[in-house]
Order: sequence, then structure tokens, then C-alpha cells
Amino acid sequence: MLSTRFSVNSAQRAYRESQASRLNWFNVNGISPDYYITIKLSRNPVSPTDRSTVRTTILALLNNSRSPRKKIKLVQRRRSKVLIFFNSESDLQTFVTDQAQVLRNWEYQTHLPTDSVIKFTIPKTFSSDQKLTLTELFVAQNNLTPDQTTKIIHLVTHQANSTTFLVQISQENREKLLNEDYWVHLFKYTVRSYDHLIIKLCENCWLFNHYYNNCARLPKCKLCSEPHDQNVCELNPQIQQLKCASCQPPYNNHQTADIICPLLIQNIRQVTKNLVKLQTPWLILPPQFPIEHGPLPS
Ligand SMILES: [Zn+2]
Ligand SMILES: [Zn+2]
Ligand SMILES: [Zn+2]
Repeated sequence: MLSTRFSVNSAQRAYRESQASRLNWFNVNGISPDYYITIKLSRNPVSPTDRSTVRTTILALLNNSRSPRKKIKLVQRRRSKVLIFFNSESDLQTFVTDQAQVLRNWEYQTHLPTDSVIKFTIPKTFSSDQKLTLTELFVAQNNLTPDQTTKIIHLVTHQANSTTFLVQISQENREKLLNEDYWVHLFKYTVRSYDHLIIKLCENCWLFNHYYNNCARLPKCKLCSEPHDQNVCELNPQIQQLKCASCQPPYNNHQTADIICPLLIQNIRQVTKNLVKLQTPWLILPPQFPIEHGPLPS
């Protein structure tokens, strides 16, 4: 899986970085392959806890529309919302046009499939209304080509005076960043960026392709794969073998969600194949690959 464009040195660094950043993969924001619309319920005239009212209201809305839809999903977290998936952009637009009157009273957002997204964090806080200015600065400082695709789509400021950026990036500009080993410049900072991938991994049963809030299975322990919470687990990782809750025995002798998990690697390959149409393959290197700390650029 080693890309020919990477020298051995940068491959080592890429592996180390991917190890270090692997938790980023489990983020739910970022690349999406879907056409969908989200309607936030907490500011709308429907009680967020009454599932059947929500369902009836949304179904009535959909039955009055000409556009076929794939499925509806009600997500209940801090702020409840309804997701309606469509088969194409035109189906989604038809729905928005048909229901313009009704939708005016609701807080909603349309989502189209996103291109490749990179993610990086710099030690300074910015506010969301600086997105446009920062996008221009980002493009200029990194010698990228200004285009419709390349833009900051999301930024989150953290209490520790830092900001995480999600930048949608065109194929051409992504290739440019690859040549720079993904180092990016913004403001007076230079930091490493990563491909932002979404791996659907359930933190309840540790199987793939769904999240814990849609899981009806019994919980599994992340450490020993037995049916209990990991907080009460008595396995001692110093002397006992960790057992992956995603894999079947006897092939589960590694930690759950570790980069060496064959099922995780398989899922990452699938995601990169489906979502990021890369000319250069994304790096997944074998675990025995030596890890060395090279000098960081100043
Ligand atoms: Zn599950
Ligand atoms: Zn356990
Ligand atoms: Zn595994």
C-alpha cells in the first residue's frame, strides 16, 4: 500500500502521524457521501421527545412532495433533529421547492456530498464568521489554486486557545498538500493536517457501520471483549492479552480500534475508496514498520 510518491522517510512519518491521529477517524463530522436535509427540532413547534408526533409531521411533509426519498432518521442527542435522505441533488431541491412554505418555519440545512476533507488544529482562537477571510488566507499562504471546492467548512474553537479546522479540499489542491507531506500554513503557524475520514464504529458493540445511539446489541468490553462495561473490566493489559471486540477469535489478539485491527483497516480502505477519490492511495502501513521521530520542520 506504499504510495510511490512517498519517500521512505515521509512514509515513516505518515505512519507515525496516522497512529497519533487515529482517534480523529471516529469523528462524525466531515466527509459525507449523502444528499440529505437536517431539520432541527428543539427550535421548532414539535416536542423533541415525542417521536410519533415528529414522525407524523415529517411524513405529512414528505407525502406532499414529489421527490422520492431514501429514508428518514430521527437523531436524539443534545439537540434532536430529523435527517431526510434523498437519492440525488435534484430530488433534494424538489423537496425544498415544494415545501418552501412549511420549511420557512423550521430551522433546516441541506447537505450535499462533500469532497475530500482535511483537518488540522492551530494554537489560536478564531470565530466562525472569519471563515471566508481565513479561507482566502489559507489558499494564499499554502500556494493553492483558488476554486469553488477548497474552503473552510467548519471551525471549532477549544478552551485551550486552539482552533480545529475542517477544510474541504479539491483533488488538485490536495495533491499539492500531499507533496508537502500535508504540512499547512495558516496565520503564523505551520501544522500537520490529516485526511478527515469517518469510520462508523459502534462504541457499544464495536461492530462497524452503525453508531452506538442506533445499537440494539449487548455492550462489549473494549479491553477483553466480554459483555460488561470497560470501567469494571478486570483484565490487566500489562500481563494479559487484550481482545479486540470487533474481530472473531482467534484473530482478536489486539486492542479494539487499534490501527493493526484487520477489520478497522478494511473499513478505512472502504471509506477511502468510496469517499475520497484519491489518485494517490491513502497510506495504511504494516504495524511492524519502524517508527522513528524525524526532525520537524521549523
Ligand atoms: Zn453496536
Ligand atoms: Zn473487560
Ligand atoms: Zn480487531
